[in-house]
Amino acid sequence: MTHPVCRAPHPALRAAAQPVDAFADDLRRLARDLIETMHAHDGIGLAAPQVGRSAQVFVANPSRRRGGELVVVNPVLRGARGRTSVVEGCLSLPDVWGRVRRAAAVRLEGRDVDGQPLVVEAEGLLAIMLQHEFDHLQGRLFIDRLPWLTRLRAQARLRAAACA
Ligand code: ZN
Repeated sequence: MTHPVCRAPHPALRAAAQPVDAFADDLRRLARDLIETMHAHDGIGLAAPQVGRSAQVFVANPSRRRGGELVVVNPVLRGARGRTSVVEGCLSLPDVWGRVRRAAAVRLEGRDVDGQPLVVEAEGLLAIMLQHEFDHLQGRLFIDRLPWLTRLRAQARLRAAACA
């Protein structure tokens, strides 16, 4: 089932998510719902805090193909290399866009939905998406990484766009 997506400044987006310790049906359901919700909003990534769940889980789908989704649980990022920037958006920040500086390549280590070790060596769009979604699990949003004036303008729009 799909879930409503929390929009900034909703507090769920600002809390560090809890690590997952049970790789059971509840987690599989959450992963399925995140994938459905991501597609329903034509997104390419979605993290559990964005649907109000404090769990270190996100999904990503850089190919936008159904069945190509990546489910990541309890991730850590290592081996950040290089610098890059693209204009990012976020389902929790409708109508806000900004060019964010990030590492060009990262190594993500975590678990899949069954609890098996998952390692992703990423560069390009996938590296950016992994960093964006990882940030959500720490309670960080991409606007936090914008230059201060751009961030202030974005935050002014957010107050106008706040919802329950
Ligand atoms: Zn986002």
